[in-house]
Amino acid sequence: MKATVLRSTGSEYRVKSGDTIYTARIKGKFRLAEKKSTNPIAVGDTVEMDLLNDTESVIHHIYPRKNKLSRRAAGRRANLEHIIAANIDFAWCVQAVQQPKFNPGFIDRFLVMTEIAKIPAGILLNKVDLWTDDLEAELKTFIASYEKLGYPVLRVSAEANIGLDALKDALTDKISVLSGPSGAGKSSLLNAIAPTMKIRTAEISESTQKGKHTTTYAELHPLSFGGYIADTPGLREFGIYDLHPDDLAGFFPEMRQFHQSCRYQPCTHDHEPHCAVKEAVENGDIFIERYVSYLSILDGLKQGLKDRGR
Ligand code: GDP
Ligand code: ZN
Repeated sequence: MKATVLRSTGSEYRVKSGDTIYTARIKGKFRLAEKKSTNPIAVGDTVEMDLLNDTESVIHHIYPRKNKLSRRAAGRRANLEHIIAANIDFAWCVQAVQQPKFNPGFIDRFLVMTEIAKIPAGILLNKVDLWTDDLEAELKTFIASYEKLGYPVLRVSAEANIGLDALKDALTDKISVLSGPSGAGKSSLLNAIAPTMKIRTAEISESTQKGKHTTTYAELHPLSFGGYIADTPGLREFGIYDLHPDDLAGFFPEMRQFHQSCRYQPCTHDHEPHCAVKEAVENGDIFIERYVSYLSILDGLKQGLKDRGR
């Protein structure tokens, strides 16, 4: 029978088929088959399993993944990939209009990560009850630029109950991920739409787990109206880890049409002359703030290469 993996703790899995939750083990051959990753089966995977009794099962097949979020494995297995979650239908970046300040740098990093992982993404703009005319004027161009790129912006307020039905609609029957800076209102939003859900915010688990060598596991939480929220501790660190600086522009959709036209190939679009991307920024075809984020991420990637001595 077909099932969805809700939780993986290394050797044992919790899976859901229909409305029933089972514990599952895997056949040994999976361990050998997948040498590139530390975990052969990840949260979000669709699997085929045989029942042993009312509560236990054995997984014998895994269906192809449409996408995955991964990071480099820890310690001596650092050459391997650790898959955090698979088959994510949508990733939302939670941002407040203020408190904390709207952070396009955070959003753009998040969007690069979702572009790499091939996960459709959007922005959950929370605390719209705190709009002022000044703020609205300030954020208008950002919001328009994301929408123009095809990233939907959902305006909500957990506190004032604005847009929550639209949010529920967007989450229904999907595996969704929510990530955002501490204080943006991720827990409030989840509380408002799924009060019984016991979700850790990524920020809390990051700070409490750091340095304790405690492994945090990703988990899918079923939603009463259908679908799942993927709880993925430390989501911010995922995805960009292995990117070469030359490839970054490919994950800014608005740069793709330009970056093959630069005089120098490969071009990093920061210092090179006759750069088609820089020209597009000057002409207003690329939003300058996105280019600023690009340069900032690029710097980090270049530094990472240096640190690894390559
Ligand atoms: P998290 O760190 O992202 O999980 O953020 P929380 O859900 O803990 O929210 C942080 C703070 O923002 C809390 O004091 C909430 O009461 C407040 N907050 C959350 N949503 C809203 C909202 O829609 N409007 C306003 N004004 N405050 C909110
Ligand atoms: Zn260029």
